[in-house]
Amino acid sequence: MVKIQPDEISSIIRQQIAQYSEEVKVVNVGTVFQVGDGIARIYGLEKVMAGELLEFEDGTIGIALNLESKNVGAVLMGEGLAVQEGSSVRATGKIAQIPVSDNFLGRVVNPLARPIDGKGEIEATETRLIESPAPGIISRRSVHEPLQTGLVAVDAMIPIGRGQRELIIGDRQTGKTAVAVDTILNQKGKDVICVYVAIGQKASSIAQVVNTLEERGAMDYSIIVAATADSPATLQYLAPYTGAALAEYFMYTNRHTLIIYDDLTKQAQAYREMSLLLRRPPGREAFPGDVFYLHSRLLERAAKLSDQLGSGSMTALPIVETQEGDVSAYIPTNVISITDGQIFLSGDIFNSGIRPAINVGISVSRVGSAAQPKAMKKVAGKLKLELAQFAELEAFSQFASDLDQATQKQLARGQRLRELLKQAQSSPLSLEDQVSTIYAGTSGYLDEVPVDEVRSFLVELRQYLATSKPKYGELIRESQAFPDEAEQILKDALTELLNGR
Ligand code: ATP
Ligand code: MG
Repeated sequence: MVKIQPDEISSIIRQQIAQYSEEVKVVNVGTVFQVGDGIARIYGLEKVMAGELLEFEDGTIGIALNLESKNVGAVLMGEGLAVQEGSSVRATGKIAQIPVSDNFLGRVVNPLARPIDGKGEIEATETRLIESPAPGIISRRSVHEPLQTGLVAVDAMIPIGRGQRELIIGDRQTGKTAVAVDTILNQKGKDVICVYVAIGQKASSIAQVVNTLEERGAMDYSIIVAATADSPATLQYLAPYTGAALAEYFMYTNRHTLIIYDDLTKQAQAYREMSLLLRRPPGREAFPGDVFYLHSRLLERAAKLSDQLGSGSMTALPIVETQEGDVSAYIPTNVISITDGQIFLSGDIFNSGIRPAINVGISVSRVGSAAQPKAMKKVAGKLKLELAQFAELEAFSQFASDLDQATQKQLARGQRLRELLKQAQSSPLSLEDQVSTIYAGTSGYLDEVPVDEVRSFLVELRQYLATSKPKYGELIRESQAFPDEAEQILKDALTELLNGR
């Protein structure tokens, strides 16, 4: 309970007396009696809804979150430095909402959807509620179209479909953002609108993402919602919902969208800070449950819509940071249970030089294989199997001194497969390039190539196919399958290249 000081009571009573005759008319105006840390407590707002937008006398916007019997707790959007004790507050009668339109493409906005890129106002005629209910079961259709990340390891073994929710999880500095940004780059020309929500990050990191997207011409189909580390907890809490509302606008107008929440750990921390300031019970029991609701109602908004609703989609890639790979903490376990799989990035793998540092053994995708292109299905099965056998064999053979030939061969194959999964940052590969890369490894063509030359050989192969054998790419692009004709061309190319070495 909040203690109200005697002088506050007397000022409230005095105001009530002064307003006595008009009170019947102005029920929707209240008075601030306590303000600080981005939170205001308001007396006298009687008919206010949870989540309603409030307007303070200096123009600051707030959202009513705690409705108590005698007062309302609201969060201020922005610094709210001019809001003081005694300031009047007007309830707007509107639930928190933001403007939405196609003009947001290519722009960087704050969590209130106001532009922060200095490129002027964003015109919009429509608005959307920041929090709106997720589509129900009847409105959905199961995931059946691929959302390609351009990363061989993901597209081959942890495939993602449009409308899926796939968690990217790992310690600090393991390449989480890189996986997400590469995925945005790979959507070029694929008619997928991307929303990147940065929560609690340094302004310089966000600028770097914007730069990468701009350089690669990916801003044309992207929107960035940024709540930097120094922005109030309330804005960091709000940013993902704003991003989701923007993506929803496109999804409900029959388009495909991809949304990235980078990262939800920081949103949960911001929420915790906000809850404590609103004086919600700080019990160890209450918060995990609250945070679960926070993230589940956000991620449930990702969907593949039914044909009746226009078959748009929202694919969500939430990011969660772990401490020393501990996935049993409450935020990781929550989000793992709400998503359709996870891409697990490991610090050890990253430090051993394998990048992207995806731990294929424990990463999963529960629905994406239904959406995997035929061409990829044809080559990926063998890759997964051979890698799993290799991992086992490698662990075991560390202690053996002399190995028989078959084992040696299997180890050599595994080393080359691991090599072909390595991929530089910002260089997503097309389907046909991924297929040729994997095929070269699993069909044994790389066995004769020294391990440290595998990557350069593969670059050579992809160039050779693109310049000298364009038919190969055409066949795969057209059918999304890997017909015998394409396989024959690929075999020829591999033999020619290996003979020429
Ligand atoms: P943070 O926890 O700070 O958000 P993060 O997990 O998002 O980090 P990134 O910022 O994506 O990690 O990457 C960490 C570093 O690793 C960066 O310097 C990045 O350039 C590098 N890196 C990421 N992916 C690759 C890659 N495939 N090849 C080479 N370097 C990479
Ligand atoms: Mg990051």
